[in-house]
Amino acid sequence: MKTYDIDVSLPRRRYWDTDIESPHRCPECQTPLVQDFQMYLMVTKQGKEVEPYLAGNKGGWFCPNCPVVVLNYDEFVQGMVVVSGVTTKEFTVAGIVNSDAIPDDKKHLPFGHNDNPIPLVEFLNPTHHQQASSTKRPINRKQRRKLKRRLKHKKKKK
Ligand SMILES: [Zn+2]
Repeated sequence: MKTYDIDVSLPRRRYWDTDIESPHRCPECQTPLVQDFQMYLMVTKQGKEVEPYLAGNKGGWFCPNCPVVVLNYDEFVQGMVVVSGVTTKEFTVAGIVNSDAIPDDKKHLPFGHNDNPIPLVEFLNPTHHQQASSTKRPINRKQRRKLKRRLKHKKKKK
């Protein structure tokens, strides 16, 4: 039974379940979240190429109370494999596709067709979680040495 209709036309703040304490409660208001099937625009980097993919999945948990959606990270990794055929963690989720916004006479056209642009509802916050963690390289020895030297200098000044 569906007790709550999710308004996908509403731009939301996006959280990853891996970033919050309780994945089935809203990180902002603690309301129990509602799982729903939605279509997402995912973008992956394959080498230097950026490829967009549309993927429908049940990895989104929506807050009935505020514009928040919590995305299940594993579900999106799986979804990425299904649509792109590659296992990659280098992807971002650009937003939710509001399929209700497509007029009936355009529904037979493929998404992204000139006459049928993707009705993308982008997230309110940028989708940098995954990239941030993968670009966080440990500092190498040279840098560490430099840092130490700098610290010594500071101490000497005192
Ligand atoms: Zn909430």
